[in-house]
Amino acid sequence: MPSIGFRLVWSVLLLALAAHAGEAEPDPAPVPMLEIGRRDEAPPAPCETCRSSGRMPLKTFKPYVLMEGDDDPPGPEQMLGWSPCPDCALGPKQQAAFEAEMKRQLERRKDYDAFERRMKLAFVDFETRHASGHFQASAAEAREVAFLLDRLDAELRAHLGAEFFGELGPRDLRLLVVENEKAYLQGLGYVRDALNHQSDDPNWYDLAKSAGAFGTRNMTLMRRDLLVPPAGAGLPHMAVFAWARMLIRHLGDGKTPRWFEEGFASLGENLVLGSQQCYSIAYEFNKVDFEPDWNKAAAEAVRQNKAKPWKVLFEADMISMPPLDYQCLFSIVRYLYKRDGAAFAKLVTQFRIGKTAPQALEQAFGVPPEKLELDWKVWVKSGR
Ligand SMILES: [Zn+2]
Repeated sequence: MPSIGFRLVWSVLLLALAAHAGEAEPDPAPVPMLEIGRRDEAPPAPCETCRSSGRMPLKTFKPYVLMEGDDDPPGPEQMLGWSPCPDCALGPKQQAAFEAEMKRQLERRKDYDAFERRMKLAFVDFETRHASGHFQASAAEAREVAFLLDRLDAELRAHLGAEFFGELGPRDLRLLVVENEKAYLQGLGYVRDALNHQSDDPNWYDLAKSAGAFGTRNMTLMRRDLLVPPAGAGLPHMAVFAWARMLIRHLGDGKTPRWFEEGFASLGENLVLGSQQCYSIAYEFNKVDFEPDWNKAAAEAVRQNKAKPWKVLFEADMISMPPLDYQCLFSIVRYLYKRDGAAFAKLVTQFRIGKTAPQALEQAFGVPPEKLELDWKVWVKSGR
């Protein structure tokens, strides 16, 4: 088996810490953020105008990637994909969020400056519809990542429906890439002291320090000097993987199971980069050699009856996990995604309201998980 030797020194452990962090986790943004509607709240009275989303599609909206320093950036009226619904109970709440974001768009350069001053770090900044990046990297590298994130966004939107993203705005999920340990500690110190990050694990800071990457539900901070080749995966792979993981955790309100987050992050990489270079580890570095074609590896495993049953894989904790398990998680999530986009989007909603994997799968896809597992085996062996 050829060794790829990629590694990801970013740890599930740290994301797990974020999952247990207190409800009222502060966000680094200096301005009011778009508020993400919690889908487990009692639903408001049904509204036909906006299909109870509180939002109306905005015709002036154009997909964009906004790089810091662009000569001709789109105006604020083009930056938001929605306006508040005039006809339902969600209206006033959405109106406030809408106005706050419009205001921020008019003053976004000031917004970036304030953020950098507080972090005491300088970045190349960018925004897409649902991502915000602050990179200590060249403008060309940051641009490459920005367009990859935007492409992933477009893929997911086309396949899962625009509803999948809810009201997620450009500044709700932030990806920070810093150049070295000094800058990383600076950023981590900001999270600890200025944001007063809380976690169930009293050792979170020390663990984050040694892992070189740290994630909360709406921010990821990574040291790029740990991630670059030859030992590690390249920056585009890392950034896409990290962002996909943060996105799904955020949309699932921190309740998405780990097997699903891992598979989804790999799916994100696969969708826009055509291959996988990253995997997550928990607690200890776990060096794994992968067969480079993950679809082929999963198919081979199913044919030889070596793939673990779903109910075993669903307990995956990323501790000393063998390569085949990572590849099967990727394959399962990819299968669910390809089988039915609308059901896949519904699956995330089911996780969000606290359903277990078997319950969530049955609710979303309308068939028992045992049947889905059998269908997956047929599908995976067919080489699709
Ligand atoms: Zn409405």
